Amino acid sequence: MARKELDLPAVLSHIADGVHYTTCTHDCPDACNFKLIVRDGRIVQLRGNPDHGYTRGNLCGKTPAEIFTSFHNSDGRLRHPLYRKGCRFGRISWDEAFGIVCERMKGCLHEYGPLSILYCHGAGTFGGLLRVVNRRFFSLLGGASMLCGSICDSAGIVAQSLDFGDQRTHSPEDILNSGFVLIWGKNPANTSPHFMANLRLLKERGIDVILIDPIKTQTVQACTEYYRIQPNTDGLLALAMARMIIENGWIDHDFLLRHTIGYEDFQRIARKVNVSEVAAACGMRIEEIESIATRYGRIKPSSIWLGFGLQRYVNGGEVFRYIDALGAITGNIGKSGGGVSHQSSEVQKYIDYSLNLEHAIVKKRFIRKGALPEDIEKAQNPPIKMIVVSALNPVAQCPNSGRVREVLQKTDFVVVIESVMSDTAQCADLILPTTRMLEEDEVMWAYGTHYIGLSPRILPAPYETKSNFEIFQELAKRLGFGEEIAGDSREWINRILGPVSGFGISYDSLLEGPQPLNPNLQAVAFEDLRFTTPSGRFDFIRRAETVSEMMQHRSHRHPAAGNGFPFTFLTVHHHAWLNSNMYSEKQKALLGSPPNVFVHPSTAGALGVSEGEIVYVCSRIGEMKATVRISEHYHPSAVTMYQGGSVSDLTCANLITDDSLISNIGDMSAFYSTRVNIKRTV
Ligand code: SF4
Repeated sequence: MARKELDLPAVLSHIADGVHYTTCTHDCPDACNFKLIVRDGRIVQLRGNPDHGYTRGNLCGKTPAEIFTSFHNSDGRLRHPLYRKGCRFGRISWDEAFGIVCERMKGCLHEYGPLSILYCHGAGTFGGLLRVVNRRFFSLLGGASMLCGSICDSAGIVAQSLDFGDQRTHSPEDILNSGFVLIWGKNPANTSPHFMANLRLLKERGIDVILIDPIKTQTVQACTEYYRIQPNTDGLLALAMARMIIENGWIDHDFLLRHTIGYEDFQRIARKVNVSEVAAACGMRIEEIESIATRYGRIKPSSIWLGFGLQRYVNGGEVFRYIDALGAITGNIGKSGGGVSHQSSEVQKYIDYSLNLEHAIVKKRFIRKGALPEDIEKAQNPPIKMIVVSALNPVAQCPNSGRVREVLQKTDFVVVIESVMSDTAQCADLILPTTRMLEEDEVMWAYGTHYIGLSPRILPAPYETKSNFEIFQELAKRLGFGEEIAGDSREWINRILGPVSGFGISYDSLLEGPQPLNPNLQAVAFEDLRFTTPSGRFDFIRRAETVSEMMQHRSHRHPAAGNGFPFTFLTVHHHAWLNSNMYSEKQKALLGSPPNVFVHPSTAGALGVSEGEIVYVCSRIGEMKATVRISEHYHPSAVTMYQGGSVSDLTCANLITDDSLISNIGDMSAFYSTRVNIKRTV
């Protein structure tokens, strides 16, 4: 948080002196609001907005004001459209750039049809305008090939939708009504820092807050107990807990009878689980599992809060479903202080997504984001001839970076809309330089809270940059359907906010600060006990074979596991950056050079490696140099690195993650199913 005067260019001429508000555009559940003070036409203060109902002015380490503001004029900024000529890029005008994109698109449409164009999109600045208008453009084009699945959370989202019919979370404040809390595979200290305050408050009140994670993260500071679990045994732990809860009669018969389907099958599976085998698999004592199960079964209400990590396995979706089942058997669903919460996608229902016109597309084709190279190479009738990348850096973010890069380089024509020369931009044939937060209008909603905020354009677009919105508007105009995307960004944001206009939410109202999305939105997920599954009831997972599959998954699922790659590879979030966003010298320094790899002392001892030693971390995909860091906080069976970094600088862990591993549920990259080894360099 910067309180000193910032050396910034003047704000836009229509921005009056005084207080303004904007919203963080990071892909983060909290969507913090900033308060800006403009004086004499310049920003003189940029800090957290203390009036935000949830984040209360506290920003995290990912957003020192200087990052956003100094980035505005930084040397690393892409300034003009760049067109590849051989191995080099040359500057061209926007007029030429738009002409080239349109000619290429027309060529693809004429020769191969719209599905030969892949729109390769991510969350990027995570705004609503970005998520609606770009997709509308491709719908109007006739429907390009689109991405499906995810590299973050689709295993958990789809799994919870199978159980509940929909994915909803309790408001983060509702945790304060819990009598017992399990924080499972979640590290809010790094990924959703405002949630930590709630955990601390519970701890002060004497509520048991238990952390279950293979890594003893900073989150432990706000918890009362920590259990180190063997990676990818969370589903087994849930089943062992279920068995104990069922056998001790701590189930909620009324809830099971009236609101669930499949309990009989589920309980048969749970009763067959051998608790001592599960304890051994999880690396926990039976008494520890008993202690957690007893409290979860007996204390009402109890809540479970799931992170992204425990779904990053091939069986990650099933893991979520077994944990959801704990909530259902104990009747902790639909009650304040209860629930099995992951993230809120409910907020998105209040946005007019139909404006993307995807419902009108007849011919569709999906390319899995986690299996990008394979799906692009396999795509036939038509093949992928052109890729437009926006709000995503797939070379650094998707597994097996080297192969993603190769496939992009082999594709006939790749357009990358970016603000910096990212690993992906380096593979482009044409780069279109874009604006970022403070330089473009966006509307942001949180997926961890129920607030919506505006991220208005306050600074002039630097150099020759244009927003995604402006780029797609101009392309639409040149391709003959400009009137379908006509209008300014304020009008479009108001159209997107149509469903909440009745609550007094609009572009202008959000200029005054963030608002709760809907005063009637339930703070308690499924409070009405209406589940949108086909049966209208909570639907238990009941595939008995998943238990033996999970036993196999825990160490031997991947063929490479018994073939010289004994460790699970965990690539976790850092507190100071998000994914590959805003890669900087500071991030490089924090990552280490070569990047740090964290191992438990017993692992280091077994491998004969020492603190600071340069080693190779190897997987089936390849190897990368890393610097050994030894700490008791890491699991002996895992090798841990931070995600982010850069492929060009050889600091990106995705150089060795395995793109053949996709979750059974939700088509998600199963990053943590990658198996690795560590080799000494001497
Ligand atoms: S990254 Fe998240 S926690 Fe940090 S300032 Fe942005 S919204 Fe807030």
